[in-house]
Amino acid sequence: MLRYRTVPVTPFQQNCSIVWCDATRQAAVIDPGGDLPRIEAAAREREVKLGQIWLTHAHIDHAGGAGELSRRLGLPIIGPHPGDQFWITGLAEQARMFGFAPAEPFVPTRWLQDGDTVQVGNCRLAVRHCPGHTPGHVVFHAAEARRAFVGDVLFAGGIGRTDFPGGNHAQLIASIRERLWPMGDDTVFIPGHGPESTLGEERRHNPHVRGA
Ligand SMILES: [Zn+2]
Ligand SMILES: [Zn+2]
Repeated sequence: MLRYRTVPVTPFQQNCSIVWCDATRQAAVIDPGGDLPRIEAAAREREVKLGQIWLTHAHIDHAGGAGELSRRLGLPIIGPHPGDQFWITGLAEQARMFGFAPAEPFVPTRWLQDGDTVQVGNCRLAVRHCPGHTPGHVVFHAAEARRAFVGDVLFAGGIGRTDFPGGNHAQLIASIRERLWPMGDDTVFIPGHGPESTLGEERRHNPHVRGA
């Protein structure tokens, strides 16, 4: 069974999640934007072994710590989709712009495509490409656990910004409609910022996507 714990990191309070397989205690960290000591302490506390880094997209608050964590612990970086290469290339610029500590550059070990799967211990998650907030944004769907880690695609009561370079509002709405809603109303999603919610709750009440 997949378990997870969310650790807010960076001045943007980005929801970094540590996900692990209960049977093997193998763990992956989703979106280590920064505050690496806090992330490593959370993994130690749960007695899980960090073996991989998964990225939903390459904004600094999600990917800023990936290079350093990968180098120090020897972890592969998996994701995002190649559409976000320009954001990875621009990490140093993003750090300056938002007042973050300089981010170590990195090259993903494996890019992700729609329909791929990622695996941690005995748990498999499906990868869905959800462009709109960024061109290379992906989400991770744990169907059995009824959980989805959706980064900045959808929030409780909101949706991702689309006013950054490469953002596209219509594409974001299509991603939510075609790739998130089919996961089912009872799926709990863990957004990149703020509290969890269910897809059904947002489909019915979120003013940005209600009726989409
Ligand atoms: Zn973002
Ligand atoms: Zn974010």
